[in-house]
Formats: sequence, C-alpha cells, structure tokens
Amino acid sequence: MSTSGASEIHVHRRDRVRKRLADGVLLVSAGRPPVRSRDTHYPFRPGSDFYYLTGLAEPEGILVLGGFPGGEALFVRPRDPEVETWDGRRIGPEGARARTGIERTAALEAFEEVLDDLLDGRDAVYVELERDDELLPEVLESLGRLRRGERNGRRAPSRIVDARTVMGEERLRKDAAALAALRRAVDVTVAAHHRALAAVRPGGREYEVQAELEAAFRRAGASGPAYGSIVAAGPNATILHYVENTGPLEAGALLLIDAGAEYDGMAADLTRTYPISGTFEGPARELYEVVLRANEAGIAATRPGVTIDDIHAEVVRVLAEGLVDLGLCSGGVDEVIETGAYRRYYMHRTSHWLGADVHDVGAYVTEDGAPRPLEPEFVLTVEPGLYVAEGDASVPEAFRGIGIRIEDDVRVTADGCEVLTAAAPKRPDDVEAWIRDARGA
Ligand code: MG
Ligand code: ZN
Repeated sequence: MSTSGASEIHVHRRDRVRKRLADGVLLVSAGRPPVRSRDTHYPFRPGSDFYYLTGLAEPEGILVLGGFPGGEALFVRPRDPEVETWDGRRIGPEGARARTGIERTAALEAFEEVLDDLLDGRDAVYVELERDDELLPEVLESLGRLRRGERNGRRAPSRIVDARTVMGEERLRKDAAALAALRRAVDVTVAAHHRALAAVRPGGREYEVQAELEAAFRRAGASGPAYGSIVAAGPNATILHYVENTGPLEAGALLLIDAGAEYDGMAADLTRTYPISGTFEGPARELYEVVLRANEAGIAATRPGVTIDDIHAEVVRVLAEGLVDLGLCSGGVDEVIETGAYRRYYMHRTSHWLGADVHDVGAYVTEDGAPRPLEPEFVLTVEPGLYVAEGDASVPEAFRGIGIRIEDDVRVTADGCEVLTAAAPKRPDDVEAWIRDARGA
C-alpha cells in the first residue's frame, strides 16, 4: 500500500524506532478514556507514544512494531454502525490501514490470537510499564504460554523492557513535524496569554483569567491545556502546583500564569508573571528582575554539550546574587549556593524535557549516570522562580507572599539555542505594554 500525506512522518518514525528495537517487539496502546464519574468519562487522549507513531486518536488501539515480516501491525476496534451511533465513530481496520500505511491491520480480538506468535522467538518485549496496566498482564500470560511450549519449539522473550528506553531516545530529538506542532502549540499559547490579560484586573478572579486562556486554546484548534493551568494570584503563586484557580485578583499583587496548549499532540509550557495593576512596583519588581536575569542567564548557557545541571548552576548563581543583594539571604553568594540557603526561595529544578508530554520522556543521565549533554533538536524549559512564603516572618513583610516564575521553551540548535516562546514579553516594560495592549487601553 502506498503511503502519502500526513502518514509519511509516522512511517519514518516507526522505521527509526524499529531500528532501535533490534530483535525486540514493541507494544504500544492508545488507552481508553478514564472514568470521570459513574458512566461519564474524561475526554479521550491517546497515549503519547501511540499518537506519535500512528497519528491516530483511536481508543483501545494497539500498535506492534518489530518481530515479524513487515515489522508492524495495528489492532483497532471493528466498525459497528449501531455502537458508533451511540459512542462515536471508529476508524476500523481498513480505515486504519489507509490512514497509517500499516498493511497488517485487524480487529482488536485478533490481537490476543496472534500475541504468542508475535512474541515467539524474540529477544525482548518492550511495553510502557508506567501506564500500560492492561497490556502488561496479557504479555505476562503470553510469556507463560510460550515458556510452557518450549518443548514444542516455542521460545519466550527473556526480557521485558520499559518502552520509554526506546521511545525516550526517539522523542527527545524533535523531527520536523514534531517541531512544527510544537511551534504551533507555542504560538497558540502566547496568543492565549495575551488574550487572558484582558481579564487581569483588580477585583477579578483567577478563574476568569483561566476561562479566557482555555477558550483561546480551543478557539485556535488546540485540544486544550497540555496540563492543569496554574493561574495563581498573590500568595497562591508560592504554591508550586496551585490549580484551584479560585482566588481574588488584588491590586498590588502579581499573577503567575503557568499554562500551555496541546496542539497536534505536542505541549507548550509557558509561565509569565504579571502585575495585576498593570505596573511592576516595589519589592515585587525587585524580585521579578532577579528572576528575569536568572532566566536570561539560563538561556544564554543553553547550547550543545552543556547539561541541564550546568544551566541550573547558572540560574542558581544569579538567584543567589539577587537574594544576597536584597537581603533575603545572608552571607556571601558562594556560601548561599554551597549551603543551599537559596532553596528556601527556589526549591525546584530549572529544566525538563518538553514534547508530547509536558514533562517529556527521555533519559536525563547517560548510561554511567552522569548528567546528559544537550544535543541539537532537544527541547527543554528554562524556568527559574523565587517564592517567598506568606508566613515567613524572617523576611521583610513587603516580600512575603510573592511568587514569581519565568518559563521559556527552548530548542537546542547547532551552536546555541532558539527561544520558542520569545514572542511572550518578559522585560518589565514590555510586559506592562503587553497588558495595556490586551486591555485595549
Ligand atoms: Mg510550566
Ligand atoms: Zn515547565
């Protein structure tokens, strides 16, 4: 069967992954929508690996790579007009073949019938151990049958390997299609932040801002937020994973927005911190400028060969300098770094991989456990912050309850990096102008 159009990229992706598998077999499932309550479900989102390799959002689909002639097969729910009238369209085996270019497609029930044959004689079976609690028991049963059949010439794979080991390496280096989708996710995200700023005003509520953000995601064709949007005003911003988004917007406070769209299976991850009044002032401005310098230093350090630890060290140095200058840490900068005194205000790491998952797959260390040097086409975040607890009586009152994070999405290039989120302003004057523009003032 000929392949064309959108499926071409998935053909290449499957080819690359098959090479990594050697004599192993990879099983990847689409999953099914989780139950929300009783008989209602959360919206379906296909497993990241399944979508990455097939481009299909088909619940319950199972992709098999490697291990037999042609080296790929796809099992999907069969067409069923009556069921589809109630529960939605199904692609069916023929539709799946046409869309993906995979010649061997069949109804799901065939998977169980052929699983033993697929695994027989192979060296290893790769499964998504982290999420695949449905497939794994089937694999174990199949391995048991093969072992019992060894006197009859069957041979069970001797290893079960986490699929992340191959899929992490594959997905870490963004191909052209992944990068195009990521750029689109970022564009949608930046536009949505701008749009949401129209709802940032004293007297408003965090959820009003969230509503504008997420409406803008959907309106632009994104599937929605790539993770729970954080819209955190004032001291709520000092809670790192604050997701209630119910609090009031008060003049004089800052609003931290950490929200990104998911577009065509790729996640953007953008944090900006905005003055609710429209103007950065006083201690909030002083802290903001420290975080901004740290963000810029982290980005300046990002290039092939350096590690995420190196970037973190650059960021920590700038933050420590600022904390000492502002009197929030005592002692010298080196001492503040060595003792970890800065961690009271900066308790998270600076970077994570970004891609189909917001905290994307891919090993952070080399095989001997050393931090991994960056390579071109890796995409990571640079996201320093400072968070002063509301109840911290040991710091001047004016600093208490301020949380700031500035997060960019960064693509490693041949000799440096490209800030994918560069269109979202972050210098104080530029942020203030962006807010005025969003408010139409
Ligand atoms: Mg984020
Ligand atoms: Zn992030």
